[in-house]
Amino acid sequence: MAEIKCIGILTSGGDAPGMNAAIRAVTRTAIYRGFTVKGILRGYRGLVNDEIIELKSQSVSNIIQQGGTMLKTARCREFETPEGRRTAYEHMTAAGIDALVVIGGDGSLTGASIFAREYNVPIVGLPGTIDNDLGGTDTTIGYDTALNTIMEAVDKLRDTASSHERLFFVEVMGHTAGYLALNGAIATGCEAAIIPEMETEVDQLGELINHGFRKSKNSAIVLVAENPRTGGAMGLAERVKQEFPQYDARVTILGHIQRGGSPTALDRILASRLGEAAIEAILEGQRNVMIGTQNGRIVYVPFQKAIRHDKTIDRDDLDLVRILSI
Ligand code: ATP
Repeated sequence: MAEIKCIGILTSGGDAPGMNAAIRAVTRTAIYRGFTVKGILRGYRGLVNDEIIELKSQSVSNIIQQGGTMLKTARCREFETPEGRRTAYEHMTAAGIDALVVIGGDGSLTGASIFAREYNVPIVGLPGTIDNDLGGTDTTIGYDTALNTIMEAVDKLRDTASSHERLFFVEVMGHTAGYLALNGAIATGCEAAIIPEMETEVDQLGELINHGFRKSKNSAIVLVAENPRTGGAMGLAERVKQEFPQYDARVTILGHIQRGGSPTALDRILASRLGEAAIEAILEGQRNVMIGTQNGRIVYVPFQKAIRHDKTIDRDDLDLVRILSI
């Protein structure tokens, strides 16, 4: 294997709070270990378009507390084509980059896996997504911050929901995963969480209404995971209007606010630990793995396992929402 001297870093896909802390940790650990470091701007687009900068220790000063990503992020359709990846590889080698650290979600790691296979490039991934939908890791960078943002927003909605005695459907992000909705519901004492993982098993809305949310309460908040198939919170509110017109149903879509903000201590610490571990993994000769944690300990997760979408929701958590909202 050729000696690795220069490591490139990129952030790709949806941004997540804590990406900056990860960039800082990767950069500084790499410098500490004697590598030079290059930052690739706008995810894979920066490789395709040759937007590559040198990163020094000072380049990553004062970013640990900032949301977003100083390297910017983007979606890049060209990288999904063999021609696009060839151009990316040519720019990468011209810049002297020998190995890559890719920070992103399942799409970004899918791209990393394909690129690594095609060009035999050593790549280590970090789980950077608020959705928490990557396999083999307890959690992902940005998830805790997004959960706290949801908590603050829902606490505020609770005031107005109870004053007006309304049923609120609050839509949160999650891609096709229900972690934010489920754990957001637990953290805010919501009456229910409606999540894609349960979609094929029960009519969650029917169950909710039939159990009669007004039995003991005069208002309710239901956290709904975004879901193009069912129309998310809007779709559910429409159904309530038609099937249960006696309820005053309102919709709030939290949207991109969930992706911003200063990362929580948990996300900063996670990103710092994972960022350092990414460089140690490269030094150990690891490649095509995502760095994650299991029971708090650093683990190497093969890309294929990370992106398989077989992480399961804990049914006890759904029961918890129901039991605690009686
Ligand atoms: P998030 O989970 O926050 O949305 P993500 O990493 O899943 O983040 P995507 O938009 O799915 O975000 O993917 C980001 C980028 O990864 C894409 O724009 C593309 O450049 C690359 N990518 C995704 N899938 C592939 C693929 N099959 N082949 C090559 N590249 C891919």
